[in-house]
Amino acid sequence: MAVDLHIHSTASDGTLTPEAIVKEAKRLGLAAIAIADHDELLGSEEAVARGEVLDLPVVPAVEISTDYEEVEVHILGYWIDPRDACLAERLRSIREGRVLRAQRIVDRLREVGIDRITLEDVLREAGGGSVGRPHVAAALVTAGVCRYPQEAFRRYLGKNAPAYVPRVRPSTEEAIAIVRQARGCPVLAHPGLVPGKPRIIEDMAAGGVEGVEAYHPKHQRGMVRSILRRAQALGLPVTGGSDSHGPGGTYPVAIGAGGAPDSCFEALLEWRKRRDS
Ligand code: AMP
Ligand code: ZN
Ligand code: FE
Ligand code: FE
Repeated sequence: MAVDLHIHSTASDGTLTPEAIVKEAKRLGLAAIAIADHDELLGSEEAVARGEVLDLPVVPAVEISTDYEEVEVHILGYWIDPRDACLAERLRSIREGRVLRAQRIVDRLREVGIDRITLEDVLREAGGGSVGRPHVAAALVTAGVCRYPQEAFRRYLGKNAPAYVPRVRPSTEEAIAIVRQARGCPVLAHPGLVPGKPRIIEDMAAGGVEGVEAYHPKHQRGMVRSILRRAQALGLPVTGGSDSHGPGGTYPVAIGAGGAPDSCFEALLEWRKRRDS
């Protein structure tokens, strides 16, 4: 059996609802899943409830984009308490920053002559969830400015494109503390995708993460092996998942991809047992 502990839903920039994700995971025969939306808990909470109905273990989770020495590092939080008021408030303020940034992207687009989308169009694409560049891309496609989301990233929204606006992110340290205070397990997401930081796993372990995501579709086999070795040397459990954003987006990876074995879920169960003992 396999697990998928990193899935995005419509509550952030994924295209499948939490309900559809749980159904699909069940159909695939996955042993456990986690919806880890960007800075948002609603999808995860809904999935936990659906999982109870369909008898599929669902770990409550979140993925926080953080800043570590000017580099974007993602921190996953597992077993967080979705009803923790302090966590909810912190994430709400992070999401507010996302809306302000979406407005700045729309302004930039206007400066380069693209005046066919407004902030409201972008927020509509986000459907009340956590707003990201994929929603701006979708709005550009809907308005007929671009044919595909990919084209929107290439021409306007990507890192070196004219309407790129970086997000104001909390520090990694802050995100780890946010997860901790909500009784969650902070895990370093996809270290293989962090550029220019060869010691990111060791640095983050020193900074308080309690697990490392080893299995991910963008981690080549050699990368997975290297992460497993380093995590073991540090005594850290490993997790994994597809990082699926559902069909139709800019990153079409299926639920269940990434090859995370059951032991990833078992390690999280162990972690929780230790926490609660
Ligand atoms: P944000 O968190 O708003 O900066 O958006 C990040 C999301 O945009 C990622 O999860 C990707 O799905 C998507 N994305 C980022 N860069 C690109 C790119 N160059 N092409 C397509 N999609 C991208
Ligand atoms: Zn995303
Ligand atoms: Fe990520
Ligand atoms: Fe992700």
